[in-house]
Amino acid sequence: FTEEMNAIRACVNEHLEESRKLAAHGKVASYIPELGAAPREALGISILDKHGHSVTAGDCSFLFTMQSISKVFTLILALMDRGEDDVFSKVGKEPSGDNFNSMLKLELVEPGIPFNPLINAGAIVISSLIRGADSEEKYQRILSFFRDLSGNDKLDGNTEVYRSESATAHRNRSLAYFLKDNGVLTDDVEEVLEVYFRHCAVEISCRDLARMALVLACGGTDPATGRQIIPRRYVQIAKTFMVTCGMYNASGEFAIQVGLPAKSGVSGGILTMVPGRFGIGVVGPSLNPKGNSVAGVHLLESLSREFDWSMF
Ligand code: GLN
Repeated sequence: FTEEMNAIRACVNEHLEESRKLAAHGKVASYIPELGAAPREALGISILDKHGHSVTAGDCSFLFTMQSISKVFTLILALMDRGEDDVFSKVGKEPSGDNFNSMLKLELVEPGIPFNPLINAGAIVISSLIRGADSEEKYQRILSFFRDLSGNDKLDGNTEVYRSESATAHRNRSLAYFLKDNGVLTDDVEEVLEVYFRHCAVEISCRDLARMALVLACGGTDPATGRQIIPRRYVQIAKTFMVTCGMYNASGEFAIQVGLPAKSGVSGGILTMVPGRFGIGVVGPSLNPKGNSVAGVHLLESLSREFDWSMF
């Protein structure tokens, strides 16, 4: 154990219990009905270093669906499948300043192209760029990529959450049909949406998230084996999007308060990392009005301040 890991271990429970109190001020997402049942007070964190040492606290075995966190890794897989030029002819590179499911600014980057790959419209386009003969093969390729990165062969989709989202996703469906009308999506819309809803519903714990984050923190290599899983350049692109758009339209504030690349999801997960050093997974289902885990963000603020983690 390094000195810093020991120091984190010594204070993490106190910070976590302090942050947990904030959960009472937020709300669990319920626009996907199945997510509404999550326990509001749950809060867990897992921090993993390059030597395989980990610090965990709170509800770190709690299982939740990746939701928008999955978008970071589908972006990377699309880049590995198609290359940069192809991917960025279909999605932009700029923050939108809008909510994740915004319809307002779809047309503003270049005609019809979503602002970036982390808003819903962009992530739906990314789903269509994953190679595979049909939606089943595309999803299976995504799932095995997630398993590879997390080192967890048992990662799987939560069918109830997938069905619950698919049955109620009128806004995402209309975004996708709009993209089809613009010619940005060329595949069958329902097939693309199936891939998107299924990768959002992959179930994970914050320990798994920390493993996935550590690969990004190490420039795409798995520190346990030294194997380069993701080309360095694509990790760099993904981390840049995480800084500029990873926390929706609270990304600027998160950059000031925490100063780390991060991606959140509506089920309350946050994946973040201290580049070169730690992978971090957090979960706390109670969300602030911008859609980020209220206790999770507070916990990361406390730890970042205490250990001077900000990149800036
Ligand atoms: N599947 C969710 C949706 O499309 C993901 C959104 C999120 O986590 N922000 O609404």
